[in-house]
Amino acid sequence: MKRVHNFSAGPAALPLEVLEIVQDELLDYHGTGTSIMEKSHRGKEYTKVDAEAKERLTRILGLGDDFHIMFLQGGATAQFMQVPFNFLEEGQTADYINTGVWSQKAIKEARLFGNVHIPFSSEDEDFIRVPANDELELSGNPRYVHFTSNNTIYGTQFRSEPDSNGAPLVCDASSDFISRPIDTDRYGLIYAGAQKNLGPSGVTVVIVKKDFLQTNTKQNIPTFLNYHSHSKRIFNTPPSFAVYMVNLVLQWVEDKGGIPYFQKLNNQKAELLYTTIDQDDFYTGTADVDSRSKMNVTFRLPTEELEQRFISEAEEHGLVALKGHRSVSGIRASIYNACSMESVKVLTDFMKEFRSKRG
Ligand code: PMP
Repeated sequence: MKRVHNFSAGPAALPLEVLEIVQDELLDYHGTGTSIMEKSHRGKEYTKVDAEAKERLTRILGLGDDFHIMFLQGGATAQFMQVPFNFLEEGQTADYINTGVWSQKAIKEARLFGNVHIPFSSEDEDFIRVPANDELELSGNPRYVHFTSNNTIYGTQFRSEPDSNGAPLVCDASSDFISRPIDTDRYGLIYAGAQKNLGPSGVTVVIVKKDFLQTNTKQNIPTFLNYHSHSKRIFNTPPSFAVYMVNLVLQWVEDKGGIPYFQKLNNQKAELLYTTIDQDDFYTGTADVDSRSKMNVTFRLPTEELEQRFISEAEEHGLVALKGHRSVSGIRASIYNACSMESVKVLTDFMKEFRSKRG
């Protein structure tokens, strides 16, 4: 077996320990003679998995009991539509901070349901940064304020929650979920596709504050898309294998020491990478220094030809998936929770060697 150092932006590297448990349990889940995939989602084994995953997430994020946790399908992309379907009506305004392509996709969907006000956009600056609080020009009384906490493509990340002047925050946290602490009280809703920091693709975690959900009194929402349908029970057949894996990843997160452990580790990994980039002007970080992401580290080399060579030589060293998003090119190293310090060390050693060979 040969495992490589995987810097994929998503679906991303999963903890080896988790994959080994999955492998071990695949044919015979806990002595039941079937895999977890082959069990009823109403049966005792799966309902335990579902409950355990929700309890773990509650503990990890310090949520208290004023939130519902839902395991939905359709990716973060479905949430771009489902959030305004539930919370935005004609005549109402929601504020959407525009920090990249994912924010824009969310904005496009919200406009189908109500007014969208953009309190800040870095589009004119090629999305190289996120706003400071004093740059936000909020509308008078927004229904909610939406932001993308980590911009996977551009390698930018909010340092902390934007100031929404008391309005509930709605966050697309797909690419930095459970990588650091969040101020849960300020959120109405948080959603995250699992396939970066949380598990495999196929499930999206949606956390909604009970009070905020109560403000959804719209009548014309298809039953499946209404959060009320999912908030208190498993509504229909869930992506059970993906949720099972999420539960194992959450167990791994807790065993390691929870968010404090990963926040420290993620800071150290990012610091090592950015220090290597900043050593001289061979590598150039693409994001504004104050907006740099600790999850997706994006940088350029002096020429595109050198970038191609960097990517192919890296692969020969067992360092894979370093190509930047097709819309921006360059290099992107995604270093989510499951990316080890060792992988980042191997990458930075390779970067130094690659650079030193070029004078
Ligand atoms: N939001 C962010 C921040 C993302 O990084 C992505 C995927 N890369 C998406 C949304 C879209 O997610 P999905 O493909 O799960 O719908």
